Amino acid sequence: MSDLLLDIGQNPRARRLVQSLGLPISLPQKLRRARGPYEERELFGRTVVVGGCGALAEVLADVLARAGADPHVVGEASAVDPYRGPGEAFGRPPVLLAPGEVPEGIRADALVFDGCGVDRPEHLRVLHEFFHGWIDRLDRCGRIVVLGRPPEDRKKPAAAAASAALEGFTRSLAKEIGKTGATANLVYVADGAEDRLQGLLRFLLSDRSVYVTAQPFRVSAQAKSAEATPSVRPLDGRVALVTGAARGIGAATAELLAAEGAKVVVLDRPEDDGPASRVARSVGGSLLLVDVTDPEAPGRIADDLRERHGGVDIVVHNAGITRDKTLRRMTIEQWDQAVDVNLSSVARITDTLLEGPLRDGGRIICLSSIAGIAGNVGQTNYAASKSGLVGWVAALARRTAKHGITVNAIAPGFIETRLTAAMPMMLREAARRLCALGQGGLPEDVGQTIAFLATPGAHGLTGQVVRVCGGALVGR
Ligand code: NAD
Repeated sequence: MSDLLLDIGQNPRARRLVQSLGLPISLPQKLRRARGPYEERELFGRTVVVGGCGALAEVLADVLARAGADPHVVGEASAVDPYRGPGEAFGRPPVLLAPGEVPEGIRADALVFDGCGVDRPEHLRVLHEFFHGWIDRLDRCGRIVVLGRPPEDRKKPAAAAASAALEGFTRSLAKEIGKTGATANLVYVADGAEDRLQGLLRFLLSDRSVYVTAQPFRVSAQAKSAEATPSVRPLDGRVALVTGAARGIGAATAELLAAEGAKVVVLDRPEDDGPASRVARSVGGSLLLVDVTDPEAPGRIADDLRERHGGVDIVVHNAGITRDKTLRRMTIEQWDQAVDVNLSSVARITDTLLEGPLRDGGRIICLSSIAGIAGNVGQTNYAASKSGLVGWVAALARRTAKHGITVNAIAPGFIETRLTAAMPMMLREAARRLCALGQGGLPEDVGQTIAFLATPGAHGLTGQVVRVCGGALVGR
């Protein structure tokens, strides 16, 4: 489905014309999306300006140098010390910049601020001191990552306030820079979980997180983790089940998981045999035709995974439907259908997979929705099912942590699929613009986030809801 404003924005003459007319229209920026599988030097040649207290300097130095970025460190002379070793090892020597110094002509691909040391409200002005000078130097489709300690782990109320303030700051900044295609996200890193930050940082700084913005993430050591975290072909040797994979987000996810080395089991309804077989063939995976609401579905899925694949490592509960009607017009059948496909079957299938086929160190990822979280007219059934998943992942994550199994939900905003193509034109147009990036996301944007959560490097994230919504103006 084409987006007229995005198309106009690509044509410099048309863009100038719209701007010269003084119309109150802001043309969205075409997003720079990653192509191809994960690479070792994912950030090759990118200028990343780092400021802040330095508590996470070792991790930052290692991630940036390994990924091929050029770190520019703002601070006193000793601030670059942690960057020297990795810089030498990977040929990315750090550049030291004095506080307040913004060299003429320099452009930044990313700004990273370590706010772990911000522990009282008066100290928040360091955010202004760092970002004020650099924000205009951030390139189109640039990245901002703010790091901090979780407010709930701070003992003193003033320290909790300072940590929590990072969230409002980052969300607002994301909305200010969204029209340039840039994103801003916040990562709260629990004490003792610093070494689990790498994977998320790589993802957030890369072109794989294009539609993830204005989001707080929490990195913790909750889930047991013993495995290596390869940055190339991270899913080699893993088996992934994707439900509802015949089209849309599910098909894009199957493709991306396969590109990282996973053997994908493409599941869809028996009547979707045609498109589901095509996806299975194109990703070199296998086909499983089952209706997830069938009472025999959990057993059939578990048997297939055990017999044909010896088990499963990644489960993506993507199958979903809408049965929209205001509550007074909604039949009990419409209620039951939406809740059964979107929520009850997810819980039933997972319970059976946890009895055996799902291996330790596994990943469970389910598809919630912004519409579900924020609420929407005509979607009481859909919203109940999708916010039900939010409670489900948080509770299940606590139970599976000792097996190293992480459980997360993804909440897409407006994604260009047949589901949204069916919306009335005016409503669709409004929905596209109501986010910081001013455009709809693509199925692959959601797929990239799912693929990241499926990797060993995402071991610090569990029990969370990750929005892939372009910084939607609705919801929390
Ligand atoms: P889609 O309609 O394009 O694909 C959904 C797939 O699920 C279809 O292939 C369908 O056949 C399958 N499916 C439905 N019922 C099934 C059943 N009983 N058993 C097995 N398979 C079944 O939808 P999409 O837009 O790709 O959405 C995928 C998921 O993302 C859904 O859970 C949806 O609620 C969620 N989501 C989508 C958006 C969006 O903007 N597209 C926004 C928020 C959330």
